[in-house]
Amino acid sequence: MTRDTPDTLGKGDVVSNESLANLLKEERRFAPPAELAANANVTAEAYERAKADRLGFWAEQARRLSWETEPTETLDWSNPPFAKWFKDGRLNVAHNCVDRHVEAGLGDRVAIHFEGEPGDTRAITYADLQREVSRAANALIELGVRTGDRVAIYMPMIPETVVAMLACARIGAPHSLVFGGFSSDALAARIQDADARVVITADGGYRRGKPSALKPAVDEALTQPGTENVRNVLVVRRTGEETAWTEGRDVWWHELVDRQSEEHTPQAFEAEHPLFILYTSGTTGKPKGILHTSGGYLTQTAYTHHAVFDLKPETDVYWCTADVGWVTGHSYIVYGPLANGATQVIYEGTPDTPHKGRWWEIVEKYKVTILYTAPTAIRTCMKWGDDIPAKFDLSSLRVLGSVGEPINPEAWIWYRHNIGGDRTPVVDTWWQTETGAMMISPLPGVTEAKPGSAQVPLPGIAATVVDDEANEVPDGSGGYLVLTEPWPSMLRTIWGDDQRYLDTYWSRFQDRYFAGDGAKKDGDGDIWLLGRVDDVMLVSGHNISTTEVESALVSHPKVAEAAVVGATDPQTTQAICAFVILRGNAAEDEGLVEELRGHVAKHLGPIAKPKRILPVDELPKTRSGKIMRRLLRDVAENRDLGDVTTLTDSTVMTLIQSKLPGAASSED
Ligand code: ATP
Ligand code: MG
Repeated sequence: MTRDTPDTLGKGDVVSNESLANLLKEERRFAPPAELAANANVTAEAYERAKADRLGFWAEQARRLSWETEPTETLDWSNPPFAKWFKDGRLNVAHNCVDRHVEAGLGDRVAIHFEGEPGDTRAITYADLQREVSRAANALIELGVRTGDRVAIYMPMIPETVVAMLACARIGAPHSLVFGGFSSDALAARIQDADARVVITADGGYRRGKPSALKPAVDEALTQPGTENVRNVLVVRRTGEETAWTEGRDVWWHELVDRQSEEHTPQAFEAEHPLFILYTSGTTGKPKGILHTSGGYLTQTAYTHHAVFDLKPETDVYWCTADVGWVTGHSYIVYGPLANGATQVIYEGTPDTPHKGRWWEIVEKYKVTILYTAPTAIRTCMKWGDDIPAKFDLSSLRVLGSVGEPINPEAWIWYRHNIGGDRTPVVDTWWQTETGAMMISPLPGVTEAKPGSAQVPLPGIAATVVDDEANEVPDGSGGYLVLTEPWPSMLRTIWGDDQRYLDTYWSRFQDRYFAGDGAKKDGDGDIWLLGRVDDVMLVSGHNISTTEVESALVSHPKVAEAAVVGATDPQTTQAICAFVILRGNAAEDEGLVEELRGHVAKHLGPIAKPKRILPVDELPKTRSGKIMRRLLRDVAENRDLGDVTTLTDSTVMTLIQSKLPGAASSED
């Protein structure tokens, strides 16, 4: 039985047209700054060129790299969906990211400005990086690592992590980074799945003003069955804390790496040689080991980093705040920027240590020009208040990027205004671990930006939105996001499980890659991401997107962040439950919940009105900043929690559960 009249939401649509129109009602558009447009790396002509000859376009982008043997064949798609890009080409990824810049006379250019959380700093030039990567490669060889062996890397955000990745790439040993915030169980599962031979770790790193140990989790993981093939653990000394030691297995980085020769001649591998395995962040289920290879991956990460951020390597200072342990760190801290010879900032710690202005202090100090971060971080800064970034000189910034979740228009506008001084374009980049590189994004010198929309597939990328029957939906309707042509940085398979690769991505819609995300095309054909289809709620026969309800909640001046789930409900199939974090100055007073319910109803129509709204202090997030809605669904349905191993802080769930009984009182 329905209590509300479904007057605005279209039946059967993944989301309603009406609600999108609501989101767009202010019609705010932001043209590219004239100066940026006039000097942009990529102009509108790129779309035309790529459309006329997609493979020719990618062949041209591959020439950004230095190949030992130039590829003659761009794409082999004879056995779809198993792609081979540039298959007869040979290159060394580390040579492309390091040595060739030194050979070009850029050895003195700073590659990494490292800022430790305690305030220690290091400037690492490309020449330094070449020496370090060569030493580390020689050290791995001394440990018996051979081309093709897998190396697990479980590290804090320090330069040695980048060095370790590049050393693996240099000798053709695929790396598997496991995010430093993961538990020993999550680490053990990933070591087993990839059958790693060596683990590279550190005694610990600094987080929130304190040393936080890492090595104990490695020791614990290596007691678990299936990890016996790990011969050595290479340990960087970062914190200097007391560290347990297994003689014969454990080796200090400073003892082994520092005594190696700084000469190492990189050998070229074929373009399809595996570069890394990376497990997806696990927001929707058991993590999948996504396999990426060399030539196509490096081509697309380099091209997109150049195009989407308009990178000018001579003058820009780039900063991506992601952790290197998730895909954004792989593609846009390590491989894309270094292939382009960029100068970048790497920061070890949390944004609020020792004070909530730390990020903005770093932007001011290094005169950062391009900043790439996640909506969740932006919303956290909104919660902390506008006065914090206002204390710093952020005038060096010229391009801002967003990735990881749909960015709601409110946060987009806040970011552009408070961080970008109303000058900078904001590029909302949609992509996944599986896609390896950006796929849908505005171009800062070309696209008239719409807050909250990723807008258009990049040149050379083909994406669209389809309905249940795989028919392309007309402009103004919603459905499922699919990629209709292979792309260079696509995943090649799920490690050790080709069948799961086929089932997960290629079986829902024939011959098309199904991303798992809901999306909508607006009247101009621009794409709006609407969250994962698993998160779409079914309320009284209507599909409602969690993203839209969250966006409506965040558009209320008292709300900084919201997470919405559909909980099983006897009357309406699912009932909308919202968890909200209030802004710094907002009080949790009597009428608040009713006020918020009314606000959503006004924006999206009465059917989208949450049945329950629960103000909370924190939301369960992965360390990559994504809200784990499936855990909130467990809470809302009074179930035991599912897998929490990829959560940043599992106490958050206890706190939320303890507040739950109060939520029921807001039902009408
Ligand atoms: P799992 O696949 O294990 O559930 P995950 O999907 O969170 O984990 P990632 O590959 O890091 O792992 O995230 C990709 C997803 O993040 C996309 O499928 C999409 O849902 C979301 N996403 C990333 N960028 C954007 C964006 N700009 N706009 C909207 N959604 C985005
Ligand atoms: Mg995913």
